[in-house]
Amino acid sequence: MKKLTYLLVATLIGLLLIGGLASAQEAEMETYISNRSGTKITLIYPSYADHSVIQSFMKRREGELAIAEDLLGNKVSSPVVIRIDPVLISGGAGFSNLDKFHYTVPYCILSGIYETSQFFYQNCSGARETGVHEMTHLLAKRKLNPLVPPFLAEGLTVAMDFTYRPKDVVDPHLATKGLLLLDEFRPLNELLKLTRRGLTWSDQKKHFYWQGGSFVAFLIDEYGLEKFKEFYKTDYITLTLRSDEAIEGIYGKSIPQLEKDWTDFLESYAPGEEKRARVFLQTWEDRTGSKLYQRLIKIWEENQFELIGYSSKAYRLTREMHCARISLGNLSGPPTDQVLNTYLEADKETKELLETWLKAAELYKSSREDVGSSKVKAEETLSQLRKARDLYLKAGDNYMAGEISKLVNQGIVGIFW
Ligand SMILES: [Zn+2]
Repeated sequence: MKKLTYLLVATLIGLLLIGGLASAQEAEMETYISNRSGTKITLIYPSYADHSVIQSFMKRREGELAIAEDLLGNKVSSPVVIRIDPVLISGGAGFSNLDKFHYTVPYCILSGIYETSQFFYQNCSGARETGVHEMTHLLAKRKLNPLVPPFLAEGLTVAMDFTYRPKDVVDPHLATKGLLLLDEFRPLNELLKLTRRGLTWSDQKKHFYWQGGSFVAFLIDEYGLEKFKEFYKTDYITLTLRSDEAIEGIYGKSIPQLEKDWTDFLESYAPGEEKRARVFLQTWEDRTGSKLYQRLIKIWEENQFELIGYSSKAYRLTREMHCARISLGNLSGPPTDQVLNTYLEADKETKELLETWLKAAELYKSSREDVGSSKVKAEETLSQLRKARDLYLKAGDNYMAGEISKLVNQGIVGIFW
């Protein structure tokens, strides 16, 4: 009788694994023609993605391309490929070569199942995943210069994004003012030579994105976009090895002179907002939950829909943290103390959720291993499975909780009949 129950539980788990794996692999492809510029955009996305989510994703990319084209005064005419891959919680975008974007979007978004936070809705509803950032990369690479130091490449994209939607993104001037206050400001001649190699993501954010964005926005405000485009077209060797020559040739100033103008501007920027600038940088540094997150990601990558499904609750909390960070980095955000509070609460809740989720996955993994060995009693395994299910529910992973419920219900039938 009991042997039969082991077998039943084992078979059910086996069947579930096969079903889960098969559905996650396929990809769909769709081609759109932009109404504005006639650019052909091909979108590759997972087959299980909600079609309305994909369509609104596409509409936003198309709109952002048009904005970037207007901002830089150039048009993209040749085809663009956007590939979308699912991830667990946070998503991002990357731009490679001349025609390919790679977006990672949380599974819960692709399925159209996600919780939005009140705070996010009130303060970040205008914030798109990447805004015009990636589209500006595309234009700058194709129309201006395919190879520039990351300080200028990211600087231009951040500056354009900030110009277009100053209330929805981090204010690079405020962030760089914070770097000055915390003595983390890197000098201009270093920044132009700096490569990504060996730099942490946090340092790249500071020096390429925020310092770069602040410097480029400053240059464009002071000397105009056309002059900046001319500077941007300088060849890589001159920009990095003879940067003095490159800057003096276009702007008629030495690097130390131009840097002084820039830091003078920053010192008088947003007077009285020093605390906001400092707190902003500190929340960006606080990555205590990231180790838990890394462990979870590892399990997700190896056991997608076997040990980890998805949690729209985790998505809501991480969005709320991200939104609080952006609101702190923006002068039009709510008061510093209020946002900091929201950030700290969401941060605490996120860590608890990640811990619970990890526990659920570990417990479920060990009960599955128990099923394979003859030592364990079926009732014990079933009770472990129920515990794991409750933990998954607490973590908001309704997918895994549902899968275990099916198992447990079948198991109970096996024992009592
Ligand atoms: Zn970028």
